Amino acid sequence: MLYLVRENLFIGNINAAAEVLLGENKEITYILSVLSSASIAFFSEWKSSFSVPTKEIRKVYVGESDSGLEGDGSDKSVVECSGKVKYLLENAGHDLKLVRMAVPLRDMESENLLDSLEVCLDFIDESRKKGFVLVHCFAGVSRSAAIITAYLMRTERLSLEDALESLRQSNESVCPNDGFLEQLSMFEDMGFKVDHSSTIYKRFRLKVLGDSYNRGEKIDSTKFAADPALAKKEASVGTGAASQKGEVIPTPAFRCKKCRRVVALQENVVSHVPGEGESSFEWHRRSSGKYYNKYDELECTSIFVEPLRWMKTVEEGALEGKLWCTHCEGRLGYFNWSGIQCSCGSWITPAFQLHKSRVDTSTV
Ligand SMILES: [Zn+2]
Ligand SMILES: [Zn+2]
Repeated sequence: MLYLVRENLFIGNINAAAEVLLGENKEITYILSVLSSASIAFFSEWKSSFSVPTKEIRKVYVGESDSGLEGDGSDKSVVECSGKVKYLLENAGHDLKLVRMAVPLRDMESENLLDSLEVCLDFIDESRKKGFVLVHCFAGVSRSAAIITAYLMRTERLSLEDALESLRQSNESVCPNDGFLEQLSMFEDMGFKVDHSSTIYKRFRLKVLGDSYNRGEKIDSTKFAADPALAKKEASVGTGAASQKGEVIPTPAFRCKKCRRVVALQENVVSHVPGEGESSFEWHRRSSGKYYNKYDELECTSIFVEPLRWMKTVEEGALEGKLWCTHCEGRLGYFNWSGIQCSCGSWITPAFQLHKSRVDTSTV
């Protein structure tokens, strides 16, 4: 089945997509496939008689820079190339006239939708200008619905609730899973974008990493943020907030008190509301961490950061351990995947903690 959502935009299931790919529906010329595998082979696993030729245009891996669609420098703190496909772009159909973007995503609450979202929305935007686009997953209920909901949110500035309600008028059976709904709510709180510098996003990334640790997956440093001492020059130019006059304000850095090595930048800090308990790990409406940082300095004896590549002890796989300065081997703090309670009472999970008594705040 296939449902019209907006002009030139359809939602459907795998059956609808197969019809388009086989040339039984000639109107649609762009397909966004959101299935557990990006490969067209998924269709022949689903129906053995299915076969259409494809020709790869581009394949982008998770963490790989993709200047065509991103590239404002703000995602430097995200991972390096991990070997996992982020998306595949190809021509498909017997005359190769269709353009298919395939984004591998499972319909699971723990699945990371946010990191794939913007590439999907940009594809829909571009495709709608040129022709009819179908967004489909397997059942046309959860994954494709989550993406179209985000699309309506972004293009029409609708709240999550209103966007979903509007989509239900096209197809009343749409129902993104609860994990996707939570991420869409973060998307709304971040201002209809995936803002890598926001506290909401940093906490989300930490949660994703913590989930992956808890599933027993290997934690390697490619999932950590760059070592600011090594990337310092680039970081201070690339990510310092530009003032209105266009000059770059230096990013505040934290240094080892003993040897002055830079150990974290302000942008690596995952802030929390002092004194707030478990509830501080919900994502609700804390769009700016800026004010809370000031409180941190008054009430918290530690700062919490995202895992950084100098944290060798974290890579060894233990549940908890000490964090040492890689230069002078002075003790800087602790980490614990199950969480640490800050002096203010808040629980941070997972926690990568630097004691304020061991680090200096300075300007790079
Ligand atoms: Zn605190
Ligand atoms: Zn040191």
